[in-house]
Amino acid sequence: MHDDRQLVEARLERVLRERIRPAVYPLTAPLDVEIWSAPGEPVPVAEGLAAATRPIAEGTQWGRPWGTSWFKVTGTVPAEWAGATVEAVLDLGFTPRTPGFQCEGLVYRPDGSPIKGLHPRNSHVRLGFPVVGGEEVHWRIEAASNPDLDTNGVPFQPTPLGDRTTAGDAPQYTLGPMRLAVFDETVWNLAMDLEVLGELMAELPVDGARRWEILRAVGRALDAVDLQDVNSTAQAARDELAGVLAAPAVPTAHRISAVGHAHIDSAWLWPLRETVRKVARTASNMTALLEAEPEFVFAMSQAQQFAWIKDHRPEVWARVKKAVAAGRFIPVGGMWVESDTNMPGSEAMARQFVHGKRFFLEEFGIESEEAWLPDTFGFAAGLPQIIKAAGARRLLTQKISWSRTNRFPHHTFLWEGIDGSRIFTHFPPVDSYNCEMKGRQIAHAASNFKEKGVATRSLAPTGYGDGGGGTTREMVAKAARLRNLEGSATVQWEAPATFFDKAEAEYANPPVWVGELYLELHRATLTSQAQTKRGNRRSESLLREAELWAATASVRAGVPYPYAELDRIWKTVLLHQFHDILPGSSIAWVHREARETYARMGEELEGIIAGAQRALAGEGSVELLFNGAPHTRGGVSAGGAAPEAGPGGAVTPVPHEGGGLVLDNGLLRVEIDNRGLVVSAYDLTAGREAVAPGQAANLLQLHPDFPNQWDAWDVDAFYRNTGRDLVEVESLGVEGTSVRIERVFGESRVVQLLSVPNGVKRLDIDTEVDWHEREQFLKLSFPLDVKADRYASETQFGHAYRPTHQNTSWEWAKFEACNHRFVHVDEPGWGVAVVNDATYGHDVTRSVRVADAGTTTTVRASLLRAPRYPDPETDQGVHRFRHALVPGATIADAVREGYRANLPEHRLTGAVAAVAPLVTVDEDAVVVSAVKLADDRGGDLVVRLYEANGGRAHATVSVADGFVVDRAVLTDLLERPLVDAEALSAEDGTVSLDLRPFQLVTLRIPRA
Ligand SMILES: [Zn+2]
Repeated sequence: MHDDRQLVEARLERVLRERIRPAVYPLTAPLDVEIWSAPGEPVPVAEGLAAATRPIAEGTQWGRPWGTSWFKVTGTVPAEWAGATVEAVLDLGFTPRTPGFQCEGLVYRPDGSPIKGLHPRNSHVRLGFPVVGGEEVHWRIEAASNPDLDTNGVPFQPTPLGDRTTAGDAPQYTLGPMRLAVFDETVWNLAMDLEVLGELMAELPVDGARRWEILRAVGRALDAVDLQDVNSTAQAARDELAGVLAAPAVPTAHRISAVGHAHIDSAWLWPLRETVRKVARTASNMTALLEAEPEFVFAMSQAQQFAWIKDHRPEVWARVKKAVAAGRFIPVGGMWVESDTNMPGSEAMARQFVHGKRFFLEEFGIESEEAWLPDTFGFAAGLPQIIKAAGARRLLTQKISWSRTNRFPHHTFLWEGIDGSRIFTHFPPVDSYNCEMKGRQIAHAASNFKEKGVATRSLAPTGYGDGGGGTTREMVAKAARLRNLEGSATVQWEAPATFFDKAEAEYANPPVWVGELYLELHRATLTSQAQTKRGNRRSESLLREAELWAATASVRAGVPYPYAELDRIWKTVLLHQFHDILPGSSIAWVHREARETYARMGEELEGIIAGAQRALAGEGSVELLFNGAPHTRGGVSAGGAAPEAGPGGAVTPVPHEGGGLVLDNGLLRVEIDNRGLVVSAYDLTAGREAVAPGQAANLLQLHPDFPNQWDAWDVDAFYRNTGRDLVEVESLGVEGTSVRIERVFGESRVVQLLSVPNGVKRLDIDTEVDWHEREQFLKLSFPLDVKADRYASETQFGHAYRPTHQNTSWEWAKFEACNHRFVHVDEPGWGVAVVNDATYGHDVTRSVRVADAGTTTTVRASLLRAPRYPDPETDQGVHRFRHALVPGATIADAVREGYRANLPEHRLTGAVAAVAPLVTVDEDAVVVSAVKLADDRGGDLVVRLYEANGGRAHATVSVADGFVVDRAVLTDLLERPLVDAEALSAEDGTVSLDLRPFQLVTLRIPRA
C-alpha cells in the first residue's frame, strides 16, 4: 500500500484545530460584563461583591500588575437552548502561557459562595443540566491581573514587574469573549479520542502494525466527519475509532498510577498573599472535578496551603474537608511546606514534619507516610532519618531528573541517610510534576523507567502546577482512554499511598543509594538573597534559645510557656523555608517581605528570651553568662547561666616585623600581612601551619557570574575560569582587639574585623559588605595546608562527606554544595574547620605543588551574588557575615564552634549565683538540639539529642528535679511514644543512652 502516513497525520492536526475543537461550542450568546478594580491590595469578598461596577467590552484592556478586579457577569440562557448542556466560557484575556503565570480568577455566586476558578485551560462554568431556557446568570469574578514576568516571551530578563512598588500601572490584559455556550459533549469526546490516538500514534514505531491500525481508523473517522456539520457527524466518527480504542494493552505494559495534582509554589513569581488565592482557586476547581469525575483522585501537599484555605475561604474549606473525608482529596507529604531540604537546620527540618503531620492529623485524622517534594532542589543526607523519626517512610520527588550532568540510575530505590535510615523512594519517570496525560509524556515515562524487568509501576502527578491550576477534565478524559490501550502504558487514578503500597510489594530488593541526592543544577540557591538566608539561620538559632530559656523559666520560675507564640513563629519560619523563598529564587516582593518578617520575628524572639532570662536571673548585680549552646562555654554549663569562668576577651594585635599585624594567644599565632591577608595561622600546641604555603587565607575573590539561564538559581561551572583576588587594601589598622581591614572594589566596600579570642585556637572574621555589584560572585577563600581526599560538611543531625577530587562526572558536578555551620578537613590527627553564621554555599578544591607534590585543600565560603532575575536588585546593600578559622579542629571542635558562632552570648546581671540547666549531658559527642515543653501543653519536658561526631556514644542525661525520669520515654518527632522502643535505663534523675553514629533521639519526661 502507498505510504500516506504524513498526509493523514497532517489532516488530523488541521481538522482537529480548525473544525472539530471549534464545534465543541456550536451556539453562543454574549454575557453582559462590568468591572470594578480595587484601588490597592485585594479586598474582602463582601467588599468585592458590593462594589459599584462599570460596563466593560470585549477587547478592552484591564488590570494593572498585581491588581484585583471584580467582574460582574450577567446573562440569560436563550429559550431555544432548552435541553442542551450549557456552559459559560469566560476569557479574562488569557494568553498562550500556561496557567498560573498570568491572569486568573475565582467565580462567585451573588451570595459570595465560590463556584470555581478560572485559568486559560479551564475557563468554563457549567450551568445545571439540562437547561430549560431562560435561566439567569448573576456571577462575580475576583480576577487577579498577575503579570507575566517573561519580557516579550523571553525568560530571565530583569523586570520591574516583580514587586507592586516598582511594577507601574499599565494594564496587563485585554478582555476576551465572555459568553454562554451550548456544549456538545459528543464533539468534545471525539476531540479527546483523536488527541489520545494521534498522540499515541506519534510515539509508536513506524514499522509496527499498531501505528498503522490507528492511522487507518483515524482516516476513516475523518472521512466520517462532515466538515460543514461536525456536530451531526461526530458520533459516526467516534464509531470508527471505537475498535482501536478498545484494543487492550499488552501484558508487559508499564503501569502508571496517575494522581491529580497542582504543585503550587507557596511564593515564587507571585507574593505569599497571592498564593492564598491561588490555592483557593485550584482547590475549588479540584473539588468540582472530583464531583464530576467519580474515578479521579487529587493529592495536595503543604499543610500551610490547607491552613490558608481554612482561614481565608471557609466555603472552599468545607468542600475540601468533605472530599478529604471521602478519600478522594488526599492530603499528602506531611510537611508544613514543600521546603528546601539542603539549608533548613536540624530542628527546622524536623518541625516541617511535626507541624505538617499534626495539621493533617488534627484536621483530617490522616497521617501521611509519604514525604512529597516533587520540586525541591536536592535532598540532604540527613533527611531520611528525619522522615523516619516523623513516622513516615517514603519519599517522592522528580527533581533529580533536572540534573544536567549525570543521569540518576534508579527510579525506585531505597535512599539511605547518614545514620543508616532507609526510605523507599520513587522518582516518577515522567520527569515532571505537571503531567498533562500527553502521549509523549506517557511514552517517556514507560521508556525512561529504569526498573524495567524488576518493577512495573510509576507515579504521574497530573495537573498544572507551579502557579496552580490543577487537573483538567481533558486530562481525566485522556486518562480514561489510556486505562488499558494497546501500545500505551496503562493509566489508573490512584492515591499516592496506594501506588507506594503496590510499588513496594512488587519490588522486594530495590537498589540502595547512600548519601545526599544532589541536584546538578540550581547550585546558586545556596547563596542568592543572602539576607533571607541570614534571617532563616538567625531565626532557627533564636527559636532554639527561646524554647530552652522559656522552658527553663517555666520550670524554675513559673513563667507561662509561650506555646502560641512559638507555634506561630515556627510556622512562619517553616513557611519561609519554602523551596523558592529560602533558596532566594522568588521575586523582589517576596524577599522584601521576608526581610521584614525575619526582623519582626527576631525582635519577638529576643523578647521571649530576654523575658525568660530576666525571670531566671532576678534583679541584682551578679554578672551572668547565659549559655544557650549545647557545650560548656566560658566555664558555664550548656543550658545554664553563671558568672563567666574562662579567660574571656581577645588578644591585642601587635605589629609584625616587616609590616602587618600579629594575633597570638599562646595557642594560635595569626599573621596578617600589609594586604590584610592571613598569611599564617600557626597551631602552636601542635606545631602546624594551617595556611597553605605561599598562599593567603581570608582572601576575598570576585568572579563574573552570568549563568546561561535561571539567574537566581544557577551558577555555571565556567564562573571559575575568570575572577580576581581582592588584595588592594584601603586601610589596615587596629580597632580594640581586632585587626580592621577595609577594601573598596567596583561599586562596593568591605570592612573586616579579625580577632583571636583568649584560650582557644580560633580566628574570628567579621565581614561587612556594602554590595553594589551586578552579576558577580563573591567568595571568601581559605587555602589550607591539609591533604584531604574528602571533607565533612554539616547537615541535619550530623555531617556528610564529599570528595575533594573530580575524578568522575559525579564529583565534578558538585562544584558548589551546601553546608550548615561548618566545613571540616583533616589528615590523621590534625584538621581545620571553617565555620559560619549565615552562609550555606561553599566549594572545596585541592591542588598539588609540582615541585614537591605537596597537596593542599582550599575551602571557600560563598558570600554574595547579584543575579538580576527574578529580583533585579538581588542582594544590593549591606550584609554581615561571621566566619571563623579553627586550626587543629577535630569534628567535635567543628560542631562546638559551629554552635558558638550561631549562638551569640547573652549576658545580664541578676540576683542568683547561677541557673542550673534543666538537662545536662555528660558526653560532648551527644548534642542537645532542642529543650522544650511538649506541644500538647501538658508540661512534659521534651529533649532532642543526636550523636554529632559520626561514632557510637554512651551518654548519661541528667534531668532537673520536678520531672519523673523513670517514666521518661523515647518518642517520635511528634512527641508520641515509640511503641517498639526498648525501655529506657533511668535512675537517680538520669537516663542512659547508647547512640548509633548520627542517631537522633527524642526524650519525653513527665512533670512530677
Ligand atoms: Zn516548586
